[in-house]
Amino acid sequence: MTATSRDVDVLIIGAGINGAGLFRDLCEQGLKVAIVDKADFGSGTSAAPSRLIHGGIKYLETGELSLVAQSTLERNLLLRNAPHAVRPLPTVIPIFSWLTGIGAALRTLFGSTTAPRGRGALLIKIGLAMYDFYGARHRVMPRHTLWSKARALTEIPPLTPRIVAAGTYYDATVRHPERLVLELLQDGIRASPQSEAFNYAHLLDSDGGVVRFALPEGGERCFRPRIVVNAAGPWIDRVNAALGAPSRLVGGTKGSHILLDHPDLLRALKGRMIYFEANDGRICLVFDYLGRALVGSTDIRAADPETVRCEDDEIDYFLASLRALLPGLSFGREQIVYAYSGIRPLPTSDGTAPG
Ligand SMILES: Cc1cc2nc3c(=O)[nH]c(=O)nc-3n(C[C@H](O)[C@H](O)[C@H](O)COP(=O)(O)OP(=O)(O)OC[C@H]3O[C@@H](n4cnc5c(N)ncnc54)[C@H](O)[C@@H]3O)c2cc1C
Repeated sequence: MTATSRDVDVLIIGAGINGAGLFRDLCEQGLKVAIVDKADFGSGTSAAPSRLIHGGIKYLETGELSLVAQSTLERNLLLRNAPHAVRPLPTVIPIFSWLTGIGAALRTLFGSTTAPRGRGALLIKIGLAMYDFYGARHRVMPRHTLWSKARALTEIPPLTPRIVAAGTYYDATVRHPERLVLELLQDGIRASPQSEAFNYAHLLDSDGGVVRFALPEGGERCFRPRIVVNAAGPWIDRVNAALGAPSRLVGGTKGSHILLDHPDLLRALKGRMIYFEANDGRICLVFDYLGRALVGSTDIRAADPETVRCEDDEIDYFLASLRALLPGLSFGREQIVYAYSGIRPLPTSDGTAPG
């Protein structure tokens, strides 16, 4: 039996951080909005990140300066508006040379897609000064500093003595991104009580301007929206296909994390994140997440968000990177208490190196 359809201004498909953020925004403007997820709210990619609310320091290298300005502003505002969920994260970047990376950074800035390998002290100093500059609006956290090698090894004794210095700055972390998603939905419903959010609903089809969903308890919900927003992250192309508008927009990459039960590592970190270059030049991170050491992430071409999982070779990569970074500590598989993976919903690209 087909249910009667409800008129709404906007139907949002997918309640991750993007769908939920948009839902709140539209509800605050007084629109009647429906948001639907096929699983739990915030359970897709939004539950699988590094849990950083970062200002996009890595986008300095690709010259995306307006993105850095916007991201640092949003980070600073979240620290003010959601201090129960988002906290400052003191961060250390180990530096392995003084001058390396200038040429590669310039090439990347002018369009090369090869990730720079080796970022020296001069480059990092310039990058951190720019990061402070772009993050000045509504700043709530201290500016960057540069540590000597001796200071860095005193602060973090197990760190490799191969460093020549270390940069320090502040970013932010979100303890429970899923909670942020839920709060955005609750804000939206409060602002626009005629709006609605529901989960575990299966998208059936779209016909004559009516979009149909099957409900878990049986029966259907139908909407006649003026606009449909597909906010399904890595599932965007599947949703478009179900809506009868096949596309090839998302060419994702998989990113995994592991959590270690490692009290010695947590003692060495003292609440700081180490944001470091792994052996292949990619940026990795390790920090104290709720009493475990969160280590991430990989960047491997993959498309299926339903089957994504952290594989053995990713674990080997993390452990080898940690051993090289912190030779004063030991790392082994028995310390791993959890692993998770997600697909970054990136635009389709023919680039050879996803990182
Ligand atoms: C390894 C990794 C690390 C990351 N680290 C960070 C970080 O530290 N900081 C940061 O800001 N970002 C980070 N990101 C990026 C961030 O996680 C994503 O950009 C963000 O979560 C995308 O949110 P979204 O709402 O677009 O997608 P999702 O969170 O995936 O939401 C899409 C939703 O659509 C739903 N859906 C799918 N199909 C249907 C359907 N047919 N009907 C209804 N609903 C459907 C899904 O169930 C899902 O809930 C990271 C990503 C990865 C993979």
